[in-house]
Amino acid sequence: MPAEKTIVVFGAGINGAAVARELALSGVGVIVVDNGDIATGATAWSTRLIHGGLRYLEYGEIGLVRESLVERNRLVKLAAHLVRPLPFYLPVEGRWGGMWAAAARLAGWESLARAWQGRRGRGSWTVGVGLTLYDLLAAGDGWPRHRQVRAGDDGMPRIDTKAFPRAALYADAQLLFPERFTVELLVDARGIAAAAGTRFEVCTHRQVQVGRDGMVTISGSPVGGGPIEIRPDAVINATGAWVDRTLTSLCVGRADGVGRRLIGGTKGSHLVVRSASLRAALADHGVYAEAADGRPMFVLPFGSSLVLVGTTDIPFTGDPADARTDEAEIGYLLGAVARLFPTATVGRDNVQQHYCGVRPLPNMAGDPHLPAGVTRRHLLVRHDESPWPLWSIVGGKLTTCRSLAETTAATVLGTLEMPVRGTSRERPLPGNCDGASRVAAMLECHRLAEQAGMPRDDAAAVADRVVGLLGARAPAVWQQGGGRPSGPPAASPSGLIRGVGLPTAIVGFCVREEWATTLDDLVERRLMLSFHDRLSREAIMDVAESLSMAGGLARERVTEAVDACVARLADLYGRIVPRSSDGADNEDRTSQGSRR
Ligand SMILES: Cc1cc2nc3c(=O)[nH]c(=O)nc-3n(C[C@H](O)[C@H](O)[C@H](O)COP(=O)(O)OP(=O)(O)OC[C@H]3O[C@@H](n4cnc5c(N)ncnc54)[C@H](O)[C@@H]3O)c2cc1C
Repeated sequence: MPAEKTIVVFGAGINGAAVARELALSGVGVIVVDNGDIATGATAWSTRLIHGGLRYLEYGEIGLVRESLVERNRLVKLAAHLVRPLPFYLPVEGRWGGMWAAAARLAGWESLARAWQGRRGRGSWTVGVGLTLYDLLAAGDGWPRHRQVRAGDDGMPRIDTKAFPRAALYADAQLLFPERFTVELLVDARGIAAAAGTRFEVCTHRQVQVGRDGMVTISGSPVGGGPIEIRPDAVINATGAWVDRTLTSLCVGRADGVGRRLIGGTKGSHLVVRSASLRAALADHGVYAEAADGRPMFVLPFGSSLVLVGTTDIPFTGDPADARTDEAEIGYLLGAVARLFPTATVGRDNVQQHYCGVRPLPNMAGDPHLPAGVTRRHLLVRHDESPWPLWSIVGGKLTTCRSLAETTAATVLGTLEMPVRGTSRERPLPGNCDGASRVAAMLECHRLAEQAGMPRDDAAAVADRVVGLLGARAPAVWQQGGGRPSGPPAASPSGLIRGVGLPTAIVGFCVREEWATTLDDLVERRLMLSFHDRLSREAIMDVAESLSMAGGLARERVTEAVDACVARLADLYGRIVPRSSDGADNEDRTSQGSRR
């Protein structure tokens, strides 16, 4: 029997996680290492769409759009609890606008396209041609075809009908929580490896050192688990916008003088807007429009009460971790909203938070003034001067993470002279549920929550929220595990995290089952509380206490951890967290200075 091969994947973003899962399906040992948490990069800072990418058609990216549409169709079936179809409304000002510009762009004459780009943006004919092609590329998938509508028709978003008298209606999909999707890819990979008896480890918040002999030393975990030493059979650098920096730290590529820069990242910012009038005006549609400068712009429902607005596209060469949304971007995005929805009166005070990420785009010798034109295709780059076969993943989209993983795994396995034994093409995520299976998961959660002593009304809302996060895996939250206590912390005798409708037991679940190790992991990427409109310091305290009870935080460090979490939310998201969920006491706003 040949010895098992082990591949180290750097980066636990959506691409690293998808590749790890694909490799596990072929029976290879996998270690995933991230110097932060799962999905701490662009995956969490995206527009959260699973889409074909309509505008890429103008750049002639037919193959990419076709691949994205095929994957869109797969993901709404295989991860139905997280990926949901969303009808989009595309408002237009005129009829013929943008036709010549689109033709020039298609021919590769970008500067001519910019010169011809009319002030009134793309017209209904131009959009119609694009959407007809979009429909053709999605043919056979059962998605509704686009249609032209008159602005102001019943059920449509209440956009300024004078400025935008016509519109097209088409469909794409939304992945509200790519953070949770990425965690589930890894949960699935762990299950696959356990069934096959192969090695699978996820090491988050770890540092790596590489010896001259190719030995990789992964530091010990801050919450237990010693260092790992391994000489991998291959290494995959899936660190997104950090790809070049990772190569330098691995002492390959850059240090050997090989390298041109692989990544030419651009910064993209989003606003999370809390405005009942804007949310009502959207009418559960996404809106895809052009800002006054012609940049593509999304206004999207974000749960039942919030609206997500994005995005900007600005060249960025610094450390992606330092990227922040600035006031100019906030003004620009609010301006775009005001142009579309002049009656919704959305101002700076309606911005609950913002976030910002760096797109890991290929460093192409294109026009640096037009980042939107840089390809969204991914590249797999092989590095020759390294102690082990080494590849970097450059670019990619959330939408194509699975297909990217499939081609990456095939290439890597081919080099290692190993067969591809399985693919994820038909493989649902562990939480996948829809229709009847979703109802069954809800009922079971309801029963378990009541059994745990929760009042009937609370139990129904809690079941809905937990299934919304975990899908079919939700009932497992109430199962005791690992011999650790998972009862309510002293601060929250109800067993609920105050104000957010989640049981405190979910914290222990995420620690046991989903590699959550810090308070930030839980608040931002497992429980998705950082986006919750009723997030408060009290709620964060409940999570911290539950984390402490699960053995992940020393009791005497709970308050300090909560303070740090609140400060991080202010720095990263400009989010000011009130003391309690009724928002009555906004002491933190003044203690942190002016709104960032
Ligand atoms: C503004 C914006 C909007 C977008 N919108 C969409 C969209 O709507 N739909 C869509 O399909 N795509 C979208 N994308 C693209 C998509 O989000 C990214 O292409 C994708 O998330 C990249 O995933 P990744 O795993 O390659 O990188 P990342 O998600 O960035 O993950 C990289 C990981 O590597 C880790 N890391 C960094 N350095 C090291 C190191 N030295 N060692 C170990 N780990 C390390 C980081 O902590 C991080 O977790 C958008 C991107 C942005 C920025």
